[in-house]
Amino acid sequence: MRIAGQVSIDDIPKICPLLSREANPQYGEKATRVVDVAGVRFGGERAVVIGGPCAVESHAQTVGLAHAVKRAGADMLRGGAYKPRTSPHDFQGSGLEGLCILSIAREETGLPIVTEVMDPRMVPEVARVADMLQVGSRNMHNYSLLAEVGRAGKPILLKRGMSASLCEWLGAAEYIAKQGNLNIVLCERGIRGFPSGEYSRYVLDLNVIPAARMLTYLPIVVDPSHATGVSAMVEPASRAALEMGSHGLLIEVADYSYGEPKCDGLQAIDAATLARIVEFAGARRQESGVSNQKPEVRNKEEAPASSAKMSFVETAS
Ligand code: PEP
Ligand code: MN
Repeated sequence: MRIAGQVSIDDIPKICPLLSREANPQYGEKATRVVDVAGVRFGGERAVVIGGPCAVESHAQTVGLAHAVKRAGADMLRGGAYKPRTSPHDFQGSGLEGLCILSIAREETGLPIVTEVMDPRMVPEVARVADMLQVGSRNMHNYSLLAEVGRAGKPILLKRGMSASLCEWLGAAEYIAKQGNLNIVLCERGIRGFPSGEYSRYVLDLNVIPAARMLTYLPIVVDPSHATGVSAMVEPASRAALEMGSHGLLIEVADYSYGEPKCDGLQAIDAATLARIVEFAGARRQESGVSNQKPEVRNKEEAPASSAKMSFVETAS
């Protein structure tokens, strides 16, 4: 029986002619496209660690945490100025003021910033401040937003929809790529599944890391904070994600001296824990002996238009 709308991973080269490994043989079986975000290289020689608050709440909280994240050795700062909340009555983020605070945090620490954009109309405004635009789990299926961020001229962190299949996730990435932007980093953030919510927020799908790496040349990172929803699980989940081949981590950090976080406090870790995770990521990358050799581009003619700036890295798996 054939069912309308059913796809499988065999269809990925057709769904994703721009992003699938099979349709882009110049990447071979293992090479990863390096996505450069203001000098931070996703899919490069070492895993990238991004830390910061769930939401930008105040100047003191975000700039203070940015310094702590920097001291912990992380590579980038995260923080939502616009927050997708379950209740419209809850804190929705600090908006334009939050973007302003993020740019101060970058100025003071030098850390590049990733922040979420939820509304296609806000893309130019957010892109003026962000070094990388985050498309959140709830918006992974928002095709007009995907097209808009694809035209923004900034690298994109594309979170996996909480109920999205790998085909749907890669299809969403292809919407961005179709606009000429191949600078996309995938982010696994946990999926709904039994018994989600009983002892963790979502189910961290570690298996999708090697699966995605087999099917696309894009780098993939993991958000252990939303995936678990439990601060004590974030450190072991981070280690597990790196062992499974994640190119990096996106982690929520809080410091209760700035007050209780307005969202997701229960999954936030402190800066000392972040520093241990950074150390683990560093130790692991040294041990892995990842080579920086460029594999031969086997089929230059078929390289996507923007391949002039493409760089390759042999990745350990
Ligand atoms: C976030 O990273 O701030 C966030 C809202 O995550 P997600 O879209 O994965 O729920
Ligand atoms: Mn959060």
